[in-house]
Amino acid sequence: MNNYEAVIGLEVHAQLLTKSKAFCSCSTEFGASPNTNTCPICLGHPGTLPHLNKSLVEYIVRMGLATNCRIRERSTFARKNYFYADLVKGYQITQHQDPICYDGHLDIELVDENRKAIGITRIHMEEDTGKAIHDLDIDTLLDYNRSGVPLIEIVSEPDIRNATEAYKYLTELKRILVYLGICTGNMEEGALRCDANVSVRPVGQIEFGTKTEVKNMNSFRNVEKAIDFEIKRQIELIEGGGRVVQETRMWDGQKQATRTMRSKETQNDYRYFTEPDLVPVIVSDTWKADIAKALVELPLPRKDRFCKQYSIPAYDSGVLVEDKDVADYYEAVCNSLQTKDAHHYKLVSNWLMTEVMHIIAERAISITQLGLSPALVAELVELFANDTISSRVAKDIFPEVVAKGTSPKEIIERDGLSQVSDTTAIEETVKRIIASNADSVEKYKAGRTNVLGFFVGQTMKEMSGKANPKIITDLVTKYLNM
Ligand code: ADP
Ligand code: ZN
Ligand code: MG
Repeated sequence: MNNYEAVIGLEVHAQLLTKSKAFCSCSTEFGASPNTNTCPICLGHPGTLPHLNKSLVEYIVRMGLATNCRIRERSTFARKNYFYADLVKGYQITQHQDPICYDGHLDIELVDENRKAIGITRIHMEEDTGKAIHDLDIDTLLDYNRSGVPLIEIVSEPDIRNATEAYKYLTELKRILVYLGICTGNMEEGALRCDANVSVRPVGQIEFGTKTEVKNMNSFRNVEKAIDFEIKRQIELIEGGGRVVQETRMWDGQKQATRTMRSKETQNDYRYFTEPDLVPVIVSDTWKADIAKALVELPLPRKDRFCKQYSIPAYDSGVLVEDKDVADYYEAVCNSLQTKDAHHYKLVSNWLMTEVMHIIAERAISITQLGLSPALVAELVELFANDTISSRVAKDIFPEVVAKGTSPKEIIERDGLSQVSDTTAIEETVKRIIASNADSVEKYKAGRTNVLGFFVGQTMKEMSGKANPKIITDLVTKYLNM
C-alpha cells in the first residue's frame, strides 16, 4: 500500500444563486411546484432564442477572481449534444474550448496550519438539466423547473494526493462560494455536486496511472469514502496483476463501494460545436475591475487577519471565519468594546464560540436570525472582564439578554447581581464554612488539597454565586493554612 501514491482531480458543479435562469427569465426558486418555473426557452421549444443572464457572468467572474484565475476577455458557449429525457433541448449549453476562467489555484489548510495550493484548471458556465423522478408506483416523472438553472463547473488540476486533501479542497471551495454569496453550498440539495477522478501510481513514477471517474456522492464525507475505496481497489487490482480500466464508476452508499457505470468504450461523444444562438461573452477590464472591487474578504485571509489584529489563537479565528456572518458578528462585538485589547478580544471569541454558538446550533438558526445586538454582547463581556459580575452570573442572565434584548447592566442592577468583591463579607462566610466543616479541614491538612474546591464551592453557594471567585480562593487558601 505504501508503495503507491494516489492522484486525484475533482470536478465540482455549483448551482448559482441568481434570481432567474441562465438563458431565460424564469425563476430559479428551489422547491416550487413541478414545471411552474418554465417557459418556451427553458423547455426548448423550436424557434426560441436564449439570452444570457448578466448575473451569471458576474458570479462566475467573482469565483474566478477568488480562486486566482485568469479571466478570458472573450469566451464562447458550446452545445453538448446527448439524449436524455431530462434534457429537453437535446443539448446542454456549456463552454468547451475557451472557458471564461482558467489557470487559478486555491489554498487548502492541512495539519498544523500548513497550506497547499491546488491548481484550478478552469471554471466555466453551463445550464442545469431538468430532473427525472423515477417513481416506481407511477412511472418516470419529469420536472423542468431546474432546466436552465445556471451552474458553474470548477475543474481542479490533478494536484490532490489523498481523500483528506480532497475533503479539505471541497470544504474550502464551498466556503468561498458561500462567502461570495453565489451558491448555498448545500450538497444534500444538489446545489453542489462533485465527481472525483482517481488514479494511483508507484511512488517515484512521473506519469499518471489510468484514472477512473467516480460519481454519485451526496456529501463531502462520501466523497472522502469513495476516494479511499477507489484508491484501495486500484492498488489491489494492480498488485493482483490486473490493470485499471478507464471508466465511470458509481458510489453505492448502501454497499459503501464503487461499481462500474460505463466504460470509456461506451462513453458519449457529445459532438460539441459553438452555440450559434449566443454571442461571445466579453468581460471588459473595467467590468472585471468593478467585480474585483466588490469582492468580500475570503475566509483564509480573514482567518490570518483575525489572528494578527485580535491576537486570538488560530483555532479561534478558524472557528469564527467558518461562517461569514459569525465572523462579521465577532468584528461588530469587538468594535463595540470599550476596552480594546487582546484579553477582551479573546473573551469575546470564547463567548461566541460557546454561549452564542450553542444557542444558534440548538435552535438551528443563523447568528443574524438570533437578532442579538453585538453591543449587548460587548457590554456583557466587559462586565465579567472587569469583575462586576462573575462569569456564572453572565451565563445566567444571558438568556434574558437574548430573548428580550435587555441590557445586562439593567438586569444586574434590577436583580442586585453585582459581584461581591467586598473582602470582609466574603471573609466572614469563608470563616464560618471552615468552622463548620472540621472533618474536611482535617482531610485538607492530611494532604487532600482537592478539598479546597469544596470550600470555594460552599462559599460561592452561600453567597448566591455573586462573590468574586478569585477572592474566595485566596481567602480559603489563607484560612485553611492557618
Ligand atoms: P477527461 O478527458 O476524462 O475529461 P480531463 O483531462 O479533462 O479528463 O480531466 C478531468 C479531471 O480529471 C480533472 O480534474 C483532472 O485534474 C483529473 N485528472 C486527469 N488525469 C488524471 C489522472 N491520471 N488521475 C487523476 N485525476 C486525473
Ligand atoms: Zn424559462
Ligand atoms: Mg475533460
